[in-house]
Amino acid sequence: MARDRIFLSPPHMGGFEKAFIDMAFEKNYIAPLGENVTGFEEDVKSFTGAKNALALSSGTAAIHLALKAFNIGASDRVAASSFTFIGSVSPIWFVGAEPIFIDSDEASWNLDPSLFESACKKYRPKALIVTHIYGQAADLDSIRDLCDRYGVILIEDAAESLGATYKGKYTGAIAQAGVYSFNGNKIITTSGGGMLVAPDEAIVKRAFFLATQARENAPHYEHREVGYNYRMSNIVAGIGRGQMKVLESRVKRRREIFSFYRDALRDLPIGFMPELPNTRGNRWLTTITIEDRKITPERLRLALEAENIESRPFWKPMHLQPVFQNAKQITSGVSEKLFNKGLCLPSGAAATNDELELIVRTIKSVFD
Ligand SMILES: *Cc1c(COP(=O)(O)O)cnc(C)c1O
Repeated sequence: MARDRIFLSPPHMGGFEKAFIDMAFEKNYIAPLGENVTGFEEDVKSFTGAKNALALSSGTAAIHLALKAFNIGASDRVAASSFTFIGSVSPIWFVGAEPIFIDSDEASWNLDPSLFESACKKYRPKALIVTHIYGQAADLDSIRDLCDRYGVILIEDAAESLGATYKGKYTGAIAQAGVYSFNGNKIITTSGGGMLVAPDEAIVKRAFFLATQARENAPHYEHREVGYNYRMSNIVAGIGRGQMKVLESRVKRRREIFSFYRDALRDLPIGFMPELPNTRGNRWLTTITIEDRKITPERLRLALEAENIESRPFWKPMHLQPVFQNAKQITSGVSEKLFNKGLCLPSGAAATNDELELIVRTIKSVFD
């Protein structure tokens, strides 16, 4: 009998989601807003400690509105982690600003503060979008100090790091704005969605206005500006409320899966993503580097694929993407090196120990 495919990070419902959806049906609050949306925003606020929250149609939309709410536009420069997913930086292009891509450091795989300082001196960015890659917190104190010194607005891309902490505080809820994603493969999912959080209520209010077609306060539809249709539906938010109940257990399980891989693969020439002191990553994906020149990540990926196991190369850094070939960048080669030797392993919280053992056996067979 054919075994089911083992996916990288499939949705994992906790059992509480349908009750919230049923409630929306019973009250005919199918769309657009309703108590699941506000309930979901409250859940994320009380979990992360964020002061204000706005549920949106995607994480990308949340980053877009963060930039808009801080009035970032055509004459501005925005620095960003180069080692990230494109949804993190495409909003810079949406608002007509100019991106400056900053490389990673070895210690965190995230934005290198010293390279960011060079960018501040050379290019005077108005904002920085820092990604907490694969759920690992970036070096936020150093980054925040630089942002204060050079007057840069700090936006956390916590799309992958919901539930991860930096010095006891939840990523996303630390800077002037933070963004979460509930896309299908994230640590929790609403099938698709995102959230913007910010300590300043005015930022979230401005984002709300822009997310609802910039409709002025009048009985008819009055518009002085052009906005977007970016809000989350009440059905989708119901899934989110259910998922928030299991977030902490998902983090625990993903961290357990990471430890399992690290222990099982310890004798092989394989490296693992670090974790900065005083941080707790959510280990959204277990990510390995292959420190053996004869074995490429692609060879490992194909060996896993032959067993119907999904794995994936690392994010290709933005400064290496054809679409950004002329963009400004401050690089050190670290993210390029990671891209060339990295592979993301199946990390779904529902993965069984038997499945994990099969994955480990398959990896070991390539090194034998
Ligand atoms: C998933 C992701 C996004 C975008 O989120 P969507 O909800 O898919 O729009 C942004 N940044 C990072 C780092 C991501 O992983």
